[in-house]
Amino acid sequence: MASSIRDFVMSHPLFCHHNHHFNFKHLDRERESYDYRSLLGGYAESDLVTAAGARPPQELDETSSVAALWPKIRTTGYGRAVTLGCRELFDLEYSPENFAEITDALQASIAGRSAAEVYDYFVREKANTRWVLNDGHTYGNDPAEYGDDAYPEYYRFTWRMDSLWGTMDRGPIDALQRATDASITSLDRFVAAMNASISRFRKAVPLAAIKIAMAYFRDLAVGDPTKHEAEAAFNQIVSRDTVHEPVQQDGGGVSAREARPLSDYLFHRLMERADDEDLPVQIHTGYLAGNWGSLNSTKASYLIPIFEKYRRVRFDIMHASWPWTSELGAIAKNYPNVYADLCWAWAMNPAESERALSEWLDGVPFNKLFGYGADTGRPWCDVGYALQARIGIARVLEQKIEAGYFSAETAEEVAAAVMLRNGEEFLGLR
Ligand SMILES: [Zn+2]
Repeated sequence: MASSIRDFVMSHPLFCHHNHHFNFKHLDRERESYDYRSLLGGYAESDLVTAAGARPPQELDETSSVAALWPKIRTTGYGRAVTLGCRELFDLEYSPENFAEITDALQASIAGRSAAEVYDYFVREKANTRWVLNDGHTYGNDPAEYGDDAYPEYYRFTWRMDSLWGTMDRGPIDALQRATDASITSLDRFVAAMNASISRFRKAVPLAAIKIAMAYFRDLAVGDPTKHEAEAAFNQIVSRDTVHEPVQQDGGGVSAREARPLSDYLFHRLMERADDEDLPVQIHTGYLAGNWGSLNSTKASYLIPIFEKYRRVRFDIMHASWPWTSELGAIAKNYPNVYADLCWAWAMNPAESERALSEWLDGVPFNKLFGYGADTGRPWCDVGYALQARIGIARVLEQKIEAGYFSAETAEEVAAAVMLRNGEEFLGLR
């Protein structure tokens, strides 16, 4: 069904609230390796794992496995985004008999284009994205990976250090010592080094927000420990003097429970920094990327004491908090400092994202809603994700018009806000 609001949405530029794009150097380094699999966007692979079931017969990254399982996942949001992007870019169906042709078409589309031109072509032209908020996580907030010729000028960045949350050892202490040339011998110095890392990153990049993806490592219920309790945890970690990955629960470091007063203490100091400088805070809530993630403790409602306490900090609550989208709507309605963000949500579950946007629009002032974020590593994947978001946004607004709730003009005003303007205002880019 053609409608004027659909045409408006399909051609309106987007604000991408969240992405993990590589810098130019990184993109160039991996140029030769990009094939039909890199169209899967980093997410459809997880649906392949899900489809393969409890006892997968073979390695799932083999072409034969992708070919065998793709038909099962082509109907999900992850799968449909791949189909949409592939059709839009190459006029090809994403199907096993076309894999070789898709690889050739992708390689042809990046051949002869510099990395900067690759971004302009896919992100600006094909996905029609005006701004991208990119996660600093890929390069550990290392300023050396940024600089003048690392990203397009329409990119902004977030500072993110997940090793501060969850099980902890000397890892983040050592990382901050290296990053800031500080000697971290006390809790106060640890906090100072965290702040110095943010300042250092901010000197190198247009920093737009703090990103927290704590949900991958622990629950979102942040306590309010005393300094003494945090110091005790800090001293315990330093005295063990071991390093392991943050996701590990039984390495040489102290357990998540033991480290918790320190993590929680640092979280509050980070919120104070955000408050002091009016730096927005993005927080992952809801479903976790990959498979086997622990969903139970990722609800946005765990963060309510934080929203209460830091009333002047602006929180961008990500991924629609799926499967708790209604809950996020109620939170965004209640707390003037909370913004509800559909980044990545369209890909996870387009039907639920439509329901979420529809009911949020009925409950929350529309200037508090963010409509899109590709949340992917490769720029060509943005094309399918952007299309998927536009289709969903258009459908919701068509329904509001059809029901008599919105005039065509109101629907256009809402579309322009949730697709672009709200993000620009949030980050002071207008
Ligand atoms: Zn992400």
